[in-house]
Amino acid sequence: TRKIVVQKPIVEIDGDEMTRVIFNSIKEKLIFPFVDLQRDYFDCSLTNRNKTENQVSKDAALAICKHNVGIKCSTITPEKEHIEEYKLTNLWPSPNGMLRNALNGTQFRESVICKNVRKYVPGWRDPIIMARHTFGDQYGGTNISVPGGNKVSINLKSSGDEKNIEVFNYSGKGVAMLTFNTEESIRAFAKSCFRMALDRNYPLFFASKNTLLKEYDKLFNETFQAVFDDEYKKQFESRGLTFKIRLIDDMAAQAMKSKGGFVWALKSYDGDVLSDVVGQGFGSMGLMIHSIISHDGKTVLTEPAHGTVTRHFRDYQKGKKTFTNPISSIFAWSRGLKHRALLDEHEELMNFTKSLEYSTIKTVENGWFTRDLAPCIKGESFTESDYLTTKAFIDAVSAHLIQNR
Ligand code: NAD
Repeated sequence: TRKIVVQKPIVEIDGDEMTRVIFNSIKEKLIFPFVDLQRDYFDCSLTNRNKTENQVSKDAALAICKHNVGIKCSTITPEKEHIEEYKLTNLWPSPNGMLRNALNGTQFRESVICKNVRKYVPGWRDPIIMARHTFGDQYGGTNISVPGGNKVSINLKSSGDEKNIEVFNYSGKGVAMLTFNTEESIRAFAKSCFRMALDRNYPLFFASKNTLLKEYDKLFNETFQAVFDDEYKKQFESRGLTFKIRLIDDMAAQAMKSKGGFVWALKSYDGDVLSDVVGQGFGSMGLMIHSIISHDGKTVLTEPAHGTVTRHFRDYQKGKKTFTNPISSIFAWSRGLKHRALLDEHEELMNFTKSLEYSTIKTVENGWFTRDLAPCIKGESFTESDYLTTKAFIDAVSAHLIQNR
């Protein structure tokens, strides 16, 4: 059959190790046979970051802002042991920080739901979309170790005015941390959460600890409430959707008892930790998808939520079979293309992304899956005949896709 022609480019950011191998198979088997795609390609593998002195990451960030759609493979954040393997001249950072800053957006994570995958939290039926603020707090803060006999205080300065607030007086060794945030950033975060909730037709919860952080978390709560009242209340009410602010302890308990089917917005650290808890609760990290959506909603970057799966790559290098789950990489492609389709009002491409996601889920539900899902589907007593290699799984998705087109 005829290929779907897509006029405007997507930005492809290639990466490292096992996810790079998987991205290649996905393109070859699940994308290129069906879609005639313009790609602005950036090789952000550690080898090429080293070769270009990381210029490639800067170029990729600019290109995403220009074309509004980025699909990214996982990349190595190098540590000392990579210097020898990759002949590094520097510990080039992961491109993620640069991309995040360029996009200035919100991180969303959710798990792909397959009916036959047993969840660690059995009541969860529908996705829980985790929305994580990515500005300031512990990630932009300053933390120091403090020798005994020191005093730590906060010094607040404006022109001609100075205020000193004592924090702690240390008799022995200790630590201190100061974190910050801004109303402007919280407001932008809140808006993208409300938009996501409307987009998916889900209720939204924002959870914080304002009983403890009476000023800090109060600004988050008040900003969310103000944005809701001023801009989203009517739309939510007309759809019968709710927005609630909850104490994070209450919300954690409620989430466990829920059936899923909501957006859960959190401050950066809470979102970082709890999205892994929720991801694992739904079965496997190999099912978790990740996107960053710019605060104006126009630009989207998608990627698998897991890393480059080094352990499996070592097997691959030795020519052994590999069983890495490619589902979150497949969904990085489908969700990225979905955004292209949305921007271009390209119905045929939109339908293709739906078919690709449907075929991936159906393949698992028909009993074909990789090793990580075997315990969630077969229980602990599974054997090698119960699961597929990465390649065989992608072939099975391809066969389903072709049959159902
Ligand atoms: P990882 O997510 O790559 O793997 C950790 C373990 O989780 C694996 O050994 C495997 O048992 C399991 N796992 C993860 N994804 C799986 C999948 N799709 N199918 C089956 N099992 C899966 O994390 P890591 O080993 O800590 O990191 C490896 C490299 O990835 C590091 O260099 C790290 O910096 C990088 N990393 C990159 C990103 C990113 O680019 N977004 C994110 C995290 C880690």
